[in-house]
Amino acid sequence: MPAEIRLFRCLSDNYGVLLHDPESGATASIDAPEAAPIEAALKATGWKLTDILVTHHHADHTDGIQELKEKYKCRVVAPAAEAEKIPAVDLTVREGDKVSVGKLSANVIETPGHTSGHIAYWFHADKLAFVGDTLFSIGCGRVIEGTPGMMWRSLLKLRDLPNDTKIYCGHEYTAANIKFALTIDKDNPVLAARAAEVELQIAQGEPTIPVTIGDEKLANPFLRADVADLACDIGMAGKQPAQVFAEIRARKNKF
Ligand SMILES: [Zn+2]
Repeated sequence: MPAEIRLFRCLSDNYGVLLHDPESGATASIDAPEAAPIEAALKATGWKLTDILVTHHHADHTDGIQELKEKYKCRVVAPAAEAEKIPAVDLTVREGDKVSVGKLSANVIETPGHTSGHIAYWFHADKLAFVGDTLFSIGCGRVIEGTPGMMWRSLLKLRDLPNDTKIYCGHEYTAANIKFALTIDKDNPVLAARAAEVELQIAQGEPTIPVTIGDEKLANPFLRADVADLACDIGMAGKQPAQVFAEIRARKNKF
C-alpha cells in the first residue's frame, strides 16, 4: 500500500511532515520542529507516532523531539555524524543504511554542507525524498558547516534521484528563492512558469511543496551550476561547476 503524507506548518516557516504506512499503522515525523503542530496533525489523522526521522541537528528541526519521545515512546533515528547534538537518539544511520517505517523503506543519503552530518531519507518505492535543509524548492540551504564543493556534491546526489521523486524540504522559502533565482537565470522559461505557479499557490494559501526532482532540476539555479549558459550569464564561463555553485550561493547570501 502506498505511503500517506500529512504536510503542515511549524514555527515561522518550517514544514512538519508525517509519513504513514497504512498497512502496519506506523507513522514517522520527519524532524520535529515543535511538538504542538505535530500532535495536532496526529490527532487530525488518528495516526500513532512510532518514529522520528531527523535530518540534522539544528534546533528548528529537533526542539520537539524530547516532548514527543516522552509522550509516544517513539524511536528517534538520526545521522551518526551529529547524533551527540540531537536528543534521545535510538538509532544512528549513515550513507547506504536502510530505515523502515512499518513496511515502508528508506535509503539514507548523506548530504553534508548545510551541517557536516546532514542526511536525506529516500523512500524509493514510494518516490518520496525528505531532504531537510539541503535542497529547497528553487533554492538550497546555507552552507554553514561544510564547503560549497561539499554542498554541490550533496545536491548532485539529490539531482540524480529519479525525475518523478517528490521532494519534501524543511522550509517554505520558495517565493523568496524565486526572486533571487530570476536574477541568476532570468531567461529560463521553466523558472518563469514556476514563478507564476508559486504566486498562485501562495495567493490561495497552499504549500509550494512537494516538487518533483525532474521539475526542480530544470528551474533551480543551484542545481544548474554545471549548465554552460548559466555560468556564462553570471560571468563564470569555463569555471568548474563547484565554483559556479559557490558564486551563486555567495550572491544569495547577500541578496
Ligand atoms: Zn538547518
